[in-house]
Amino acid sequence: MTATHRSRPLTIAIDGPAGAGKSTVARQVAERLGYLYIDTGAMYRALTLKALRLRVPLDDAAALTALAATTTIRLERGEEGNRVFLDGEDVTAAIRDPEVSRHVSTVAAVPGVRERLVQLQREMARGGGVVMDGRDIGTHVLPDADRKFFLTATVEERARRRQAELARAGHQVDLESVKAEIERRDRLDSTREHSPLTQAPDAIAIDTTGLPVAEVVNRILEYCR
Ligand code: C5P
Repeated sequence: MTATHRSRPLTIAIDGPAGAGKSTVARQVAERLGYLYIDTGAMYRALTLKALRLRVPLDDAAALTALAATTTIRLERGEEGNRVFLDGEDVTAAIRDPEVSRHVSTVAAVPGVRERLVQLQREMARGGGVVMDGRDIGTHVLPDADRKFFLTATVEERARRRQAELARAGHQVDLESVKAEIERRDRLDSTREHSPLTQAPDAIAIDTTGLPVAEVVNRILEYCR
């Protein structure tokens, strides 16, 4: 008779475009498994916030790379996702500002920025027991992840979700401009040279259009058993 082994903690990658439901789903999957949730988009947002505050020209790749090298970004477990600390300051709310959303894809396209943040992300994932969401987790950050998922939804649905999220944070934005913003960000994220947004060949695609969050979470958990 063979002994039963308690399975080792998994590394789970969840990628997809803006508003596909990644962060809500990833956070709940992590909670259900008792894993750590890592929101990599929040890290790019935090660095973008710093660049905007310091008025670093966003077309200056060398300056952004240097900024990334001298910046500390820390994620902590919070009630509603990660709390984000930029050089020790809690910027959890500030990084959701529409101004940050408008510029984040430009900052995230800089190779030196990505190298630094990816290095931090890999360190956080060491040992497993993590659910990491982003754009390039299954393809680049954690190519050996145990499970990979790629969440999509129609752009209309993604825009509605983003608008509701912004409204909860006190930003009233009309649906058409949220949609335009999402489409622009998708385009920048999918066409950049360094680790663009794309589905890993071994990722399981889930179209979340019209699906309740609980249903998406349960499907992912099924695949993780
Ligand atoms: O996930 P969220 O929408 O907060 O991500 C903000 C931006 O950060 C994305 O539009 C993308 O430009 C960048 N990002 C990235 N790679 C990741 C996560 C986010 O380039 N792994």
